[in-house]
Amino acid sequence: MNIHEYQARRIFAEHGIPVPESEVAKTPEEAAAAAERFGGPVVVKAQVHAGGRGKAGGVKLAATPGEARSRAEAILGLEIKGIEVRSVLVAPAEDIESEAYVGIVLDRARRADTIMVSSEGGVDIEEVAETMPEAIRKVAVDPRYGLLNHQAAQLGHHLYEDPRVARQASSIIAKLYRAYRASGATLAEINPMIVNPAGEVKAIDAKMNIDDNALFRLPDIAALRDTEAENPAEVRARDAELSYIQLDGNVGCCVNGAGLAMATMDLVKYYGGEPANFLDIGGSSNPDKVVAALELITEDPNVNSILFNIFGGITRCDDVANGIVEATSRMELGVPITIRLTGTNEEEGVAILASHGFEAMVDMDRAVETAVHHGRGGG
Ligand code: GDP
Ligand code: MN
Repeated sequence: MNIHEYQARRIFAEHGIPVPESEVAKTPEEAAAAAERFGGPVVVKAQVHAGGRGKAGGVKLAATPGEARSRAEAILGLEIKGIEVRSVLVAPAEDIESEAYVGIVLDRARRADTIMVSSEGGVDIEEVAETMPEAIRKVAVDPRYGLLNHQAAQLGHHLYEDPRVARQASSIIAKLYRAYRASGATLAEINPMIVNPAGEVKAIDAKMNIDDNALFRLPDIAALRDTEAENPAEVRARDAELSYIQLDGNVGCCVNGAGLAMATMDLVKYYGGEPANFLDIGGSSNPDKVVAALELITEDPNVNSILFNIFGGITRCDDVANGIVEATSRMELGVPITIRLTGTNEEEGVAILASHGFEAMVDMDRAVETAVHHGRGGG
């Protein structure tokens, strides 16, 4: 789950990280009023679940409340990486002497949370990793001991020569790690962490991703979900208890089981196609779920071929076949569908589909090849 900068700022502040005060505004007038209260230059920032807002024109300085109003007006009209900006954050503008990067990610290969710092702040860390990897210092946190004092100290001193500045940075890094752990995060990032002319270190940006699997035990964090800022199709899929991730290909995939869904996507690519989505309908053959899945797939304008791939284990192929028959009687698909069924009650499933005019296959390669062929406009 993604959360907004203003929410991550709040979490950081609760853990003692120095974060400038800020307000969220939904209209240019609210932004002007916030600037008036802060009384001085402010920064106006788009609140969207996307990185690189600065480059997209979503972060602007404003010297006066009037300017804050017009900046907010411009930013509230933006679409950043396909997401409409619905609110802005207004904060007193900081004077910046230097910008650094601090990030924590769950590194699955190392099986450890990994803290990364770089004195090249303010730019994408991916860019730094590519152009000057030596500028990034990484420390893996042993889950048995947590972040040790000397590790935080090392990272702080890697960033800054002045020991008074380095100590502040080390303390911020330790606090960021506590915030990350306490929030079930898989990523926490301060980019940039700045030093101002008074030698104070502060976080002026805040980003967190939360592990969906941690939300059941963290109701306060779960409440931060902003469904309006999420992909509407993915929100509906979650409500229908489907695992659905929209991609940008043209072959809509409907599969039971996450592993088979991944294998199906691989095979679509192998045959030269592009999957339009990852979709796991789970073990159920409930027609409502099948309808919901087909609706999601067909609403994607890029989809011009649908591939159903079912491996019957506990799921019975005849149940799924009935689900497909019922679903397609309730809705018009409008694009060719290729169905592959195998496993439990395969013959019954194929027979049910055949009696309703669907030709089901049992061979996965052939089915995927056919679906990719349909997607290319082949009959
Ligand atoms: P992002 O592009 O989405 O990561 O947004 P950031 O919050 O990181 O802002 C992008 C850049 O805008 C920063 O790297 C700074 O250079 C600049 N910026 C952001 N806030 C301030 C501020 O308060 N004062 C000044 N002078 N620059 C700022
Ligand atoms: Mn940033």
